[in-house]
Amino acid sequence: MSDTTPQTTLDESADVDDRDVSLRLEDVTKTFEDGGGEVVAVDSVSMDIRDGEFVVLVGPSGCGKTTTLRMIAGLEDPTEGRVVIHGEDVLGQEPRERNVAMVFQNYALYPHKTVRENLAFPLAIRKYPKEERASRVQEVAELLDIAELLDRRPGDLSGGQQQRVALGRAIIRDPEVFLFDEPLSNLDAKLRIEMRTELNKLHARVGKTSVYVTHDQEEAMTLSDRVAVMNDGKLQQIAPPQTVYERPANLFVEGEAVRATRAVLQTLGERLQAGDATDLVFGVRPEDVTDTTVVDESFPPETTFDAYVTVVEPIGANKDLTLAPSESAPEDEEFTVRVDANSTAQPGDTVTFAVDMSKAHLFDRATGENLTL
Ligand code: ATP
Repeated sequence: MSDTTPQTTLDESADVDDRDVSLRLEDVTKTFEDGGGEVVAVDSVSMDIRDGEFVVLVGPSGCGKTTTLRMIAGLEDPTEGRVVIHGEDVLGQEPRERNVAMVFQNYALYPHKTVRENLAFPLAIRKYPKEERASRVQEVAELLDIAELLDRRPGDLSGGQQQRVALGRAIIRDPEVFLFDEPLSNLDAKLRIEMRTELNKLHARVGKTSVYVTHDQEEAMTLSDRVAVMNDGKLQQIAPPQTVYERPANLFVEGEAVRATRAVLQTLGERLQAGDATDLVFGVRPEDVTDTTVVDESFPPETTFDAYVTVVEPIGANKDLTLAPSESAPEDEEFTVRVDANSTAQPGDTVTFAVDMSKAHLFDRATGENLTL
């Protein structure tokens, strides 16, 4: 990683050996003209992705994920910076010339072609010999468990089956890099989780460098070797999912948990002996909060706070409680905690909760930086 990327805090790729790098983004920036003005969609993003690594780009709508992916694919040219695939600067290469394959959320299968023809299409346009086409189609169909569907047309397949065909079409050429743009977002919840597992298995078997765009944090956590968190065109952090989770580089990465901030600060704030509390933001994960009334344990008073329960959602082994600092607090001060399923909290109750201080973080309000790493 070069010195010119100060925003890539906690970047654990710093020690990647050059020979292991499959895909490198070097200070990549993309600006678009926008009715006289300029939009910086991607702002000086750098990352090294290892051979065979699965990196998930995550972040809110408009943060520049898709644009980053499209620059790797060759569908957009960077305004500045370089995209390097296996040591080669690919600027000027057409998408087709780059050894990458892309899977989108709308699978874009040819409706009038059979599954076999859809799978073979990328090989046909590259003039692979007929026999090789047939053998590769068979191989990929078996890998994805769609061999019995080869003579059907996309319209006769379920959403999950269509997505498998789209995956098959991407892997059939054996590309250097796979690019996925929210490939599961059109599927229903159950199928999404199934396909996520399938993707994990596929990656374990095929082991290709993959860059995957999603705004689904669970997908990011379960699929990735490393998560790249983007906000406002900038890379916030790139690190293994557990690191991003346990040691968020800044307030943005901490995300949802930070919504607890103001409310918790109101009761905990003055007790935090960490300087001027108004300049600090206190953050804790929903699951690092305990409903003290159902645990046979005493908690140090400086770790506890009272909150008003607005919503109770049982989710199996846990309950998600939506809390507010008080009954009359505005909705934007609500936050969620995940407590034991034994919790008897009901909407309308005021309950004493305890925070696991060893998991809590303090952030600088002005810069968002995590001060407790
Ligand atoms: P989403 O999850 O909603 O797809 P994203 O993180 O993929 O969002 P991008 O699609 O990369 O975000 O867009 C980043 C920014 O660049 C947005 O502000 C978007 O409006 C802008 N943008 C993207 N493409 C263009 C374009 N062709 N012309 C002008 N602005 C664009």
